[in-house]
Amino acid sequence: MKVWIEIDQCTGAGLCEMLEERVFALGEDGLSRVRQDGRVLPPGPAGKAEIADSYADRVREASRACPGDCIRFEIESPADGVRDRRK
Ligand code: SF4
Repeated sequence: MKVWIEIDQCTGAGLCEMLEERVFALGEDGLSRVRQDGRVLPPGPAGKAEIADSYADRVREASRACPGDCIRFEIESPADGVRDRRK
């Protein structure tokens, strides 16, 4: 699955990192980023992380809870194409 942050809307509250620190991390500017293979990606288009689908429930939960409404994700399956997304 792909996960990214619309950083312009991020309030920096850090709820995402509290819910799933293996996927989300606050940057030095206090705004959220996503991790891929343990590495924190830069903000912007380059910051789309490809992560295991096993994180889907936690990412959905963080996306619903995010006060800035800025956590985006896309889950694809080879057979069905995109099967869940929040854009
Ligand atoms: S929960 Fe949303 S608003 Fe808060 S730091 Fe994470 S991405 Fe930003």
